[in-house]
Amino acid sequence: MATLHQDRRSQRDFAELTKNINQTQWLGLTVINTNKGKKNDAIGYVEFEAIYQVNEPRQLHERSKFIKDNGQWFYVEGDILPGTVPKRHQPCWCGSGEKYKKCHGV
Ligand SMILES: [Zn+2]
Repeated sequence: MATLHQDRRSQRDFAELTKNINQTQWLGLTVINTNKGKKNDAIGYVEFEAIYQVNEPRQLHERSKFIKDNGQWFYVEGDILPGTVPKRHQPCWCGSGEKYKKCHGV
């Protein structure tokens, strides 16, 4: 909640986050791309892919928008993008160590 811009905070988010956080295990985070977000910018974008587990592994590929307010960066909103699909012989995105074709690519 502390990194969510105050205009975007609501009790619903807080309840939702609290519920989700207890059910979610974060397994990995890869920053794919950044745009702006430098020292003299007031806006920045981060494209990332996170792997997390709620019962089973899932992908979150998102391009997030941040704004700087009083010298501190806050998350504003994000666009959810399609998850990365590895080639069949490459390691699966879930981190199982199996090839994609033998894991989530089946
Ligand atoms: Zn997998």
